[in-house]
Formats: sequence, C-alpha cells, structure tokens
Amino acid sequence: MDKRPEWTAHVRRVTPYVPGEQPNETDMIKLNTNENPYPPSPAVFEACHNLDPAAFSLYPELSAGSLVRSLAAYHGISEREVFVGVGSDDVLSLAFLTFFNADKPILFADITYSFYPVWAEVYRIPFACMALRPDLTIDPADYDRENGGVVIANPNAPTSIGMTVSQIEDVIRANPGVVVIIDEAYVDFGGETVLPLISKYDNLLVVRTYSKSRSLAGMRIGYAMGNENLIQALNDVKESINSYTINTASIRMGIASLGDEQYFQENLQKVMRTRERVKEALREMGFDVKQSQTNFLFVSHHTVPATEIFEKLKQRHIYVRYFSKKRIENYLRITVGTEEQMDRFLEAVREITGTF
Ligand code: PMP
Repeated sequence: MDKRPEWTAHVRRVTPYVPGEQPNETDMIKLNTNENPYPPSPAVFEACHNLDPAAFSLYPELSAGSLVRSLAAYHGISEREVFVGVGSDDVLSLAFLTFFNADKPILFADITYSFYPVWAEVYRIPFACMALRPDLTIDPADYDRENGGVVIANPNAPTSIGMTVSQIEDVIRANPGVVVIIDEAYVDFGGETVLPLISKYDNLLVVRTYSKSRSLAGMRIGYAMGNENLIQALNDVKESINSYTINTASIRMGIASLGDEQYFQENLQKVMRTRERVKEALREMGFDVKQSQTNFLFVSHHTVPATEIFEKLKQRHIYVRYFSKKRIENYLRITVGTEEQMDRFLEAVREITGTF
C-alpha cells in the first residue's frame, strides 16, 4: 500500500542542480567552483564598513536603482537597459521564466552550464541539446532551426572555450523571433563580449556576474543588459515574485567595485597570467588542456584517468570539479587559484601522474 501523504501527488518534482562541494578544511585548496582567489577591491570593504547601521532596518532600494545606474554608466548604456539580480543564477532563472513560453524547444549545448536544463525542467520549458563538435566547440549552425529561444554560455563552461562575436552574431541573426541569451559569466578573462550588439538586436540579452571577475561570489550580484523592452519584461516578472531582491550591502559594494577599475584589471591580469603558466605546465605533464578564455582550465590526461586524479587530489585536500557526464567523463575542471595554490596543485599532479 502506498503510504505517501496525499499532498505528494501535487508536488512539483525536480532534480536540482548540484553545485561544487563546499568543504571546510583549514589546509584545503579549493579549485572547484570558479571563485576568484583574490579578495575584492579595498574600496568594496570600505563601502561595507561605511554602511549606516540604520540602513539594515530598512528595506533596500527598489530595483537596486543606484547599482543599475552605476552599471549603465560603467558600460555606457541606458539605465533602462540594465536589470540586476541575486547572482546571475537569479537573472538567468528569471529570464527563462520571462522569455521562454513557446511550445517549441529552447536550444542550448549538450555540454554547458548544467543549470540550464534544471531551469527548463522546473519551469516546464521544452528543450533540446545541441551536441558540441568533437573538439568541444559550439557550431553556430546548430542554432539555425525552429526553436523557442537560445541560451549560450560564452565562453562556455565547463569547456572554457569562447566563441567570436561574429559567430554569436550569426546565431542572433538566425533567430530574430526569439530571445537569445548570452551568458557572459567568464567573459572578463579574455572572452569576446557581444554587449555592443544590444543596440542592434532587440532580442539579445547579455548576462554577467560579479562572482568571478569581481571576486564577489559571496555577495550574490548578477545583471542582464538588453533592449529596454526585454528589461521591462524581466522587471515585470521579478516584481510579481519578490520586490526586494538585492540587499543594501550588495548594492553599495557592487557600486564600489565598479569604481576601482585599476584593481579590477590587475586582478584579471594576475589570474590570466597564472592560468597560462599552469596550462603550459599541465601540457608538459601530458595533459590535453583546452584554450581557456575563463578563470578555469578544462583538462584531460593522456594516460591517467580523470577520476583517479580527482580522488588523489582530494586525498591531498585539493578540490577540483569532475562531471560524470558522457563525452567529458575523462576531464577535470580546475579553477585558477593563487600562484602558491597552483604551485601546490602542480606538485600534487606531478606526483599523481608520475611526471617528475
Ligand atoms: N553562468 C555560468 C556559466 C556559471 O558557471 C555560473 C557559476 N556557477 C553562473 C552563471 C552563476 O553564477 P552566479 O549566480 O554566482 O552569478
């Protein structure tokens, strides 16, 4: 006899997204969730420190207005073209809910950010996955077919490979009747942005995050930029769910981060320099390393299985990301840490793969 309570028959059933582990060991090296290894600009701490305690008892600013204005000024666009959310996961999820209401399937790559199929399922949006080419690149021609919307992470995750502006523009041009979302979570680490195209295509939504390049994953700030009608539609849906999303501290810190461009650029350069050094070192040890335009490397060893390297790194308290998914089951995704962390990582990998 089925003993489940009656209400369970009406539960929305979903298989949730599984984020990278968040272990809490003092001596660990955490290279599994693509966070920035360096702190945010000192200006960000100052903004936090200067918060008036009275601000905590009041609701935050509606629609994070001052952060929206700062982002618009920073990117040289209108404030009506910017939408801010609680991390880009919130922005992307709302964009799926807002724009993908057709009966036709939305399209995204078979190997991409694994939250896309989860949102599609929770909102009951039909979807189809376009297979990456054997070299794990996206073929723009795959997106030239009937669909209810398109989502592309550029650069893609977990492959770390970017597309050019002209390749993305081909996809947008082939899809004038649906919204095309370009998730630029990692674009600051050497990718090509399609932001200038938002004035040319009214169906293009560009999504960014503070979590990677701005070292603010803990404050949860993400944003979207696009034609003002798209932004209005996003705001209407958001205002129908939760009026106050971005908290006061995040608003202030988000603005302060934009004000310290020099720190931002130096931080990016540091991460990219380390990435290139680690890439070369891994290639010398017999790894296939994809050409990364992100703050992580996607690697596969010629002889030692990824699972073995993953487990042996874990025994040494070094955490990287493994996806047990067809086609990438022999790859590891390694976030770029500090120079010192990566030295220890390389030393461990040298031991594990037997390349001394
Ligand atoms: N898009 C991609 C491709 C990502 O890898 C991530 C990070 N997990 C996100 C969006 C979401 O980042 P956040 O919610 O921290 O802005």
